[in-house]
Amino acid sequence: MRVADLHLHSHFSDGTYSPEELAAQARRCGLAAIALTDHDSVEGCPGTAVACAAAGIEFIPGTELTAEQDGNELHLLGYFIDTQNPSLLVQLARFQAVRQNRIREMVARLNRLRVPLAAEAVFALAKCRAPGRPHVARALVQAGLCANLDEAFERFLKKNRPAWVPKFKMSAGEAIELIHLAEGVAVLAHPGLNRTDQLIPGMVKAGLDGIECFHTKHSTTTSKRYLELADRFHLLVTGGSDCHGLNKGKPLIGTVKVPYLHVETLKARAVEIKAAAILRPAP
Ligand SMILES: [Zn+2]
Ligand SMILES: [Zn+2]
Repeated sequence: MRVADLHLHSHFSDGTYSPEELAAQARRCGLAAIALTDHDSVEGCPGTAVACAAAGIEFIPGTELTAEQDGNELHLLGYFIDTQNPSLLVQLARFQAVRQNRIREMVARLNRLRVPLAAEAVFALAKCRAPGRPHVARALVQAGLCANLDEAFERFLKKNRPAWVPKFKMSAGEAIELIHLAEGVAVLAHPGLNRTDQLIPGMVKAGLDGIECFHTKHSTTTSKRYLELADRFHLLVTGGSDCHGLNKGKPLIGTVKVPYLHVETLKARAVEIKAAAILRPAP
């Protein structure tokens, strides 16, 4: 059976793999298709498309946007997005600036706690425009200030810990709108992690297209619950490993995969969205 892993990160956000490594790993796992869904970035998409083409793997350009609704953080995946869309690129640049400022603020808080980390050390290690907490954690370990990533999060970086900084986030509706504006399919990521089920009907009204039923951190029962929700709200079904490369021990790529049929339904929806975009008056 042909299968796909539709949730992967590269070193263009907080993953460790290059586009070439991702394609090689996808081939090793026997995946027919993969989607790259870096946080607030589409930078890795062109390179991964080329690497996948060379490896005979179908590539789906994507991204993962962070949103907030009623005090709950949630993630929205955009599939088959136009990675050159000017509105998308402007917004992503804005989110990336927010992320960079947040790193500086986290480092300032660490410094006030007499943890001598430099923001430059985080940026040098991250080597990407969308740095996040995992990069701060890695920099703390690299500088010998924490024994491991878990300690960095537990002591400093987890929500409400002393170096944690809240992040400005758009609403779920705005994220869905932005994905549609970039002609992509909007899918709620790993709902089992965020416990935001009560927000799903509102997101459906806002145009949500699908739901990530299969995810590394979803149990069989959780996946089943979201399959039922997908059925009830007529949402597309997706799934993926959320692999961050070698960040957290062994790579997850290929450990969660969905039948290729789900790629076909995603693709069909993308065609509809692109057709609707042609009819929409220019902003
Ligand atoms: Zn996520
Ligand atoms: Zn992710």
